Amino acid sequence: MNEFELINRYFKRSVMCNTVALGVGDDCSLLNMPAGKQLAISVDTLVADVHFPANGDPQSIAARALCVSLSDLAAMGAEPLWFTLCLTMPVADEQWVAPFSKGLFQVASDYDCELVGGDTTRGPLAISIQVMGAVEPNKALVRGGAELGDMIFVTGTLGDGAAALAVLNSTLKTDNEASHYLTNRYYHPVPRFKAAHALAPLASAAIDISDGLVADLGHICAASQVGAEIYVESLPMSPAVLKFASNTQQYNWALAGGDDYQLCFTVPRDHLVGMEGLIDRGLDATLIGEITHGQGVNCLLLGKPFTIQATGYNHFG
Ligand code: ADP
Ligand code: MG
Repeated sequence: MNEFELINRYFKRSVMCNTVALGVGDDCSLLNMPAGKQLAISVDTLVADVHFPANGDPQSIAARALCVSLSDLAAMGAEPLWFTLCLTMPVADEQWVAPFSKGLFQVASDYDCELVGGDTTRGPLAISIQVMGAVEPNKALVRGGAELGDMIFVTGTLGDGAAALAVLNSTLKTDNEASHYLTNRYYHPVPRFKAAHALAPLASAAIDISDGLVADLGHICAASQVGAEIYVESLPMSPAVLKFASNTQQYNWALAGGDDYQLCFTVPRDHLVGMEGLIDRGLDATLIGEITHGQGVNCLLLGKPFTIQATGYNHFG
């Protein structure tokens, strides 16, 4: 199968969305930006055996690649519109591309995000996805807005991504239920669009946790020129992590494991009542610390300094 047959069969679909004037197949796609909105745009590259196991199920690899990119739109408070896909593969193997395409379009339809173009080349397996979304001008959740005294929250549970990797490479033993839960969290991280939408009016800064809480909260601190304190004992963890990981693993994974794709965000104190209201109405957010003077992130376990054993993943560090 040549490149164009492959694109036509696996990546060209009839246009679904009225913001797409011309979709896959021409030199460019033509897109109509919804009136009065800002374009939010982000790209992520996933390299085989660096960001996902090369021998993983292609349907899940595709789902993960798109979810990871969508998570950046969610963290910005943007709504998804379109994405492009640059796929590099050693061989055009239909046995691999067919389930990959299925997993990709499944997630695309779950989040109403339309594939509008890309590039297909031969080489070591790598997936690059660029997502584009819409956000109200001046309403985006940027990293630079945190201020002294703001409280720090995270959505969902932390440490699941690192625990899942430990299950996938057989260094963590669990039961079937926990293994299923963790593997699903790894391959299908949920971009937190609904949570972001709810908390956006109350938050001063936000980021999605891809490299680990300390590393990513560190980006908020740097951009906002503040420091942060994390109360390690309050970090939210899933039953699977609490049951099968040691205490040291739990804390280190939650603080530095990465791959969680939850939101870390800051809330000024005069919005705390509003936050409590959101949590009462079902938002899965937990208070984990506060913004302080100074620089960088300090971790405290029951008031005493806690030293992390590993920091977030830094590809060229
Ligand atoms: P060109 O040579 O003009 O850059 P290509 O041959 O790279 O065009 O691609 C042909 C068309 O197919 C373009 O519309 C491009 O956006 C689309 N395309 C190529 N690869 C992919 C892919 N993996 N997913 C979606 N669209 C793709
Ligand atoms: Mg091209």
